[in-house]
Amino acid sequence: MTGRTANQRLFGAARAVLPGGVDSPVRAWGAVGGVPRFLVSGRGAYVTDADGATYVDLVGQWGPALLGHAHREVVAAVQSAAAAGLGFGAPHPRETELARSIVERIPPVEQVRFVSSGTEATMTALRLARAATGRDLIVKFAGCYHGHSDGLLTAAGSGVATLGLPDSAGVPAAVSATTIVVDYNDAQAVRDAFAAHPGRIAAVITEAAPANMGVVPPRPGFNAELRAITAADGALLIFDEVLTGFRVDPRGWWGLEGAAEGWSPDLFTFGKVIGGGLPLAALAGPGSLMGLLAPAGPVYQAGTLSGNPLATAAGLAMLGHADDAAYARINKAASAIAAGLREALHAAGVAHRVQRAGNLVSLAFREHAPKNYSQARDQELFRYAPFFHAMADAGVLLPPSALEAWFVSAAHDDAAVERILAALPAAARAAAG
Ligand code: PMP
Repeated sequence: MTGRTANQRLFGAARAVLPGGVDSPVRAWGAVGGVPRFLVSGRGAYVTDADGATYVDLVGQWGPALLGHAHREVVAAVQSAAAAGLGFGAPHPRETELARSIVERIPPVEQVRFVSSGTEATMTALRLARAATGRDLIVKFAGCYHGHSDGLLTAAGSGVATLGLPDSAGVPAAVSATTIVVDYNDAQAVRDAFAAHPGRIAAVITEAAPANMGVVPPRPGFNAELRAITAADGALLIFDEVLTGFRVDPRGWWGLEGAAEGWSPDLFTFGKVIGGGLPLAALAGPGSLMGLLAPAGPVYQAGTLSGNPLATAAGLAMLGHADDAAYARINKAASAIAAGLREALHAAGVAHRVQRAGNLVSLAFREHAPKNYSQARDQELFRYAPFFHAMADAGVLLPPSALEAWFVSAAHDDAAVERILAALPAAARAAAG
């Protein structure tokens, strides 16, 4: 795949005018090397690059493409919304409709504030938590990614992890000093943080099920412990479901855990799926907290494009078509891919763990399942690039980093899954070296 391909020409041109040639770091394929594919179209489980090559896609827009690319009804909803005007900077009825559909699915949520990115959602959730508690400190977990606001860029996952950055340059020390970072799945470390700073921690923010250091599921009872520890100290629990929300279950990760166990976080953040593929995210919670947001309350937050009518149309169409059958298809395809992965890597004699959190999948080149960020990084990461490129050569596009989740969609039918399974043995041999 060398030679002057269209992808190569486009990447060269992009690097002249875009830092690193991209608008989001992981897209540059830094961890796997080679020329990133410029994707020019997608339909269902497939994407096509600038050279006309077609791939089964397991990136899924990094989450939003729950029903596959260019889902007919989602596209139709956006087209019809666009014909009526691209946005008004005024209230629009669909904002209420989308908020209501979220409130109906997730009972602890009474009110929703729409924003344009997950970053804004978590950033605002922290501001709200600080205002509600009158406290400054935040606890986050190493390897969890909550977007790129200053205070959350300490020991962050996703692209920060892929680039191996402990922290981002440019974050004021005074801001970092308000973030306490502890190991994931370690409730005692959270208790210790509260013991060291009694009455000073505004919130614990956690990915409901982390998927930005690869998939590292919460051990049973961990999230419930976070709920109990925060409640005991009068701090809030912020459940970041930007990635898991409406993906792993119609009620997100909370639906798989909190709903069954009878607890709920104070605030949720959502994104990705609820925007149907367009820029839309949200923070959500009980009226008692959400009412602190301006203009109802004193916590300022705003956005020119917030609640954009195209994005709300896409989100409503997406949620409307994410029925039980769609989730069943995603789960079935994810399980088939996970089983195929285990089989191929076992046959090739490569030490590995296939990580799962609901329908999220990732691969760790180590013998034991990683439980936290340092374990997730402590794997034979060098095996991922050959594995990734063998899959790409066979027409399957994976996330270009071992520290990211694979996103399966409801459009991954038997034919798409077969293509993935057929590609795995050679990729596993490539990983074996
Ligand atoms: N939270 C989580 C759990 C995420 O996975 C992400 C993005 N991958 C974000 C927040 C940030 O969202 P965005 O990229 O839309 O700013």
